Amino acid sequence: VENVNKIYEMGEVKVAAVKEIDLELYQGEFVVILGPSGSGKSTLLNILGGMDLPTQGKVFMEGQEITDYNDRKLTNYRREKIGFVFQFYNLMANLTARENVELATEICKNALNIDEVLEAIGLGERKEHFPAQMSGGEQQRVAIARAVAKNPALLLCDEPTGALDFETGIKILSLLKKINQDYNKTVVIITHNMPIGEMADRVIKMRSGEIIEVKVNDNPIHPEGIEW
Ligand code: ATP
Ligand code: MG
Repeated sequence: VENVNKIYEMGEVKVAAVKEIDLELYQGEFVVILGPSGSGKSTLLNILGGMDLPTQGKVFMEGQEITDYNDRKLTNYRREKIGFVFQFYNLMANLTARENVELATEICKNALNIDEVLEAIGLGERKEHFPAQMSGGEQQRVAIARAVAKNPALLLCDEPTGALDFETGIKILSLLKKINQDYNKTVVIITHNMPIGEMADRVIKMRSGEIIEVKVNDNPIHPEGIEW
C-alpha cells in the first residue's frame, strides 16, 4: 500500500477516512489492526480487498498494481485472491453450510476440497445444517470455511468476533491463527478482542485515518487444538 488516501464526499462534507497510509504485508503474516471507531480500519481493509478504491495512492498484490485494474480485473482479483469474513457472517439463509461454501467456490479456479475444509474447521457434523440451525460461532465458522475454501492469497476479517461472546471469540481468533499456520495464508484481522495481540506477528494501531503505531511480535503464541 503506497501513500493511500481515501476521502468520502457527501455534498459539501468531506471525510478523510484514511490518510497517507504506507503498509507492506508479507506472505504468511498474521496481522491485527486496532483502533477506535471511525479510525479508518474498515476503509483500509476494503481497499486491500479491492472492494473500495483509494482516492489517491497505489495498492499492489504480488507485484501487480490493483489500483490500475479495470472493473473486470478487479472482480477477478476479489474472486481469486481475497477471502472476506464479516462481523455478521452474511450466510445465505436458504442454503446449508456446505452449499454456502460450495456457492462461493464454484467460480474459483484454485478452490480447496470443501469437505476437507469443513472438517478441518470442526464442522464435519454440521454440513447439512442451515444457518438458522447453528449457533453464532458455528455460523461464523461456516463463513470462515467459505472464505478459506476459495484458497485466497489474503484473508481479510472485519471484526469477525464482534457478534460473539468473549470465549467463542477467542476460539474463532485461534482458528484464524491455525488457518494462517496450516494453510500458510496471509491474514489481516480487525478486532477489539485484545488477547489476539499475543498471536499476531504485527499489531497495527490506527487513529483518525492514520497508522500511529506498529508493534512487531517476535514470539507469537500458537494455539493448541481447539475444543468446539
Ligand atoms: P468502526 O470500528 O466503527 O467499524 P472503522 O475504524 O472501521 O470504525 P471506517 O468505517 O473505516 O472506520 O470509517 C472511517 C471514517 O470514514 C468514518 O468517519 C466514517 O464515518 C467514514 N466513512 C466510512 N464509510 C463511508 C461512506 N461510505 N461514506 C461516507 N463516509 C464514510
Ligand atoms: Mg469498521
